[in-house]
Amino acid sequence: MAATYDLNDESVVVIIGSGAGGGTLSRQLSINGVKVVCLEAGPRLTLGDIVNDETEMFLKLSWLDRRIGNGDAPDGMPVWSCKTVGGTTAHWTANCPRFREYEFNADSHYGDMDDTNFVDWPFGLDEIAPYYDVAENMLGVTGTNNIPLLPPSNNFKVMEAGAKKIGYTDIDTYHMAINSRPRDGRPACLQMGFCSSGCAINAKWTTLFNHIPQAEQTDFFDLRAESMVTKILMDDEGKATGVRYIDNNGVVKEQKARVVCVAANVVETTRLLLNSKTEQFPNGLANSSDQVGRNYMRHVMSQIFALMPGEVNMYKGTQTAGVIRDEVRHDPSRGFSAGFQLHLLSLGPEQVAKTLVDNGWGKNYADLMENYNKLAGVILTGEDPPQVENRITLHPTETDQYGLPVAVVTYNYHPNSIAMMDYAEDKARQMYESLGATDFFTIRNFGATHNLGTARIGNDPATSVCNSWGQTHDIDNLFISDGSLFPTSGSANPTLTIISLMLRQADYLIESLENGSI
Ligand SMILES: Cc1cc2nc3c(=O)[nH]c(=O)nc-3n(C[C@H](O)[C@H](O)[C@H](O)COP(=O)(O)OP(=O)(O)OC[C@H]3O[C@@H](n4cnc5c(N)ncnc54)[C@H](O)[C@@H]3O)c2cc1C
Ligand code: SF4
Repeated sequence: MAATYDLNDESVVVIIGSGAGGGTLSRQLSINGVKVVCLEAGPRLTLGDIVNDETEMFLKLSWLDRRIGNGDAPDGMPVWSCKTVGGTTAHWTANCPRFREYEFNADSHYGDMDDTNFVDWPFGLDEIAPYYDVAENMLGVTGTNNIPLLPPSNNFKVMEAGAKKIGYTDIDTYHMAINSRPRDGRPACLQMGFCSSGCAINAKWTTLFNHIPQAEQTDFFDLRAESMVTKILMDDEGKATGVRYIDNNGVVKEQKARVVCVAANVVETTRLLLNSKTEQFPNGLANSSDQVGRNYMRHVMSQIFALMPGEVNMYKGTQTAGVIRDEVRHDPSRGFSAGFQLHLLSLGPEQVAKTLVDNGWGKNYADLMENYNKLAGVILTGEDPPQVENRITLHPTETDQYGLPVAVVTYNYHPNSIAMMDYAEDKARQMYESLGATDFFTIRNFGATHNLGTARIGNDPATSVCNSWGQTHDIDNLFISDGSLFPTSGSANPTLTIISLMLRQADYLIESLENGSI
């Protein structure tokens, strides 16, 4: 049960990160008898560490090391991700839609759009669909595999009533990796409303309490928590030989490896590739195309809350179980390309206080808090066009506690995204207005929860970083294993697709290890 591998064992696969990408790959490889060392920068929490307190859990789970935001990326916290075993699947709210067919063919489908770097994916829905099937079954996604949808919360009922009044029809409580009935040793959701705080009863799927323990039940998985990888090590032949990391006692160690897979979530994946530069790879690893760090996407997002005439009590029930899908289509007559979904959103009083009114103080704040129970909310999630200058780079002088240059996240909205937000926010307001709402709160710019792009897959090594399996074009035994692989973002919340890509990558890796091609 579980394993402990020697630092000099050259036969292991090292996986950096234990979230959606790294946790899934760890499970798949280890249950198939491949030796895995998973290095995770964050600590390991138990169910007992999860409490129903959004601020306490935010501080426990989030990646709080310094990152710099530039342009429209908010400084201080340009990205909201996690530093814990389980990665950001500890915080996520578990919406699990698939990409639509047209979203794999964005370039062909949308036509030219100025200042974008749209491409088609190297494969379409038919290639990934079997992996979606496996992933949905693995996560117990509601509305698939005969699993009932979750019951509607009050917040959902308000959204649904307003949506119908303005003509929307494709509405339900969504595909969620949250148990609507007991399944796989996990209980049914109790509608407690603390999904992003971790879910203290494990009704919400996360790699922390699912894929990681499943990997540990094999004899092939060595998890090292609080182990921050600082460099990928290379030999003179241009092969990855292992990684350098700082362990839980602050000791610098080196783990040898046959294959290195980077699943550190976009910003950290880019930072590690750039920080690992060598004489042979002076612009960072796998970067002969100069595409590493570029085409950073984060989905077009905007939160819209409305003050309703009666009580909604949005805190009761799952935070995001609800969707309006009518706008998931490419219809330029709306004034923009690509599609978006509106899905349900509830925030607890502390989050509302921090985000909806300035400074959490004064009359506006007091009035809003008094009316907290009357708030209803949705969030827009739309396709974000890839742009080469939206990118992750290294700060020239500023370093973090590990002595590594910190990441600079440069992001600016494309005019298409602004037109999409204007349109979607207006629709959301109409929806709530139709039920008597008078006051609205709109929040556009917050730490990005969906981080994508920066090491895109593609068939041409001159314009992409990885082949379609996530193997870097430049270094055979270096793989990228997270949302960095997305060439375009689609409008679907990304994690089901990340997990499906990792199931596919695992198949490829197992075969390549068996036939000796890596
Ligand atoms: C509040 C919130 C709600 C969300 N809701 C949804 C949702 O409903 N649906 C959806 O699809 N997505 C959602 N997401 C996004 C989802 O969580 C991410 O898409 C997903 O977790 C990304 O997986 P990943 O493997 O790329 O990265 P992560 O899951 O973030 O895992 C990366 C791991 O790598 C570790 N790491 C980083 N650098 C190093 C290093 N140098 N050495 C060692 N370890 C390192 C990190 O500590 C982290 O644990 C949400 C995110 C947030 C914040
Ligand atoms: S609403 Fe359901 S999934 Fe969310 S925290 Fe409560 S029990 Fe867990």
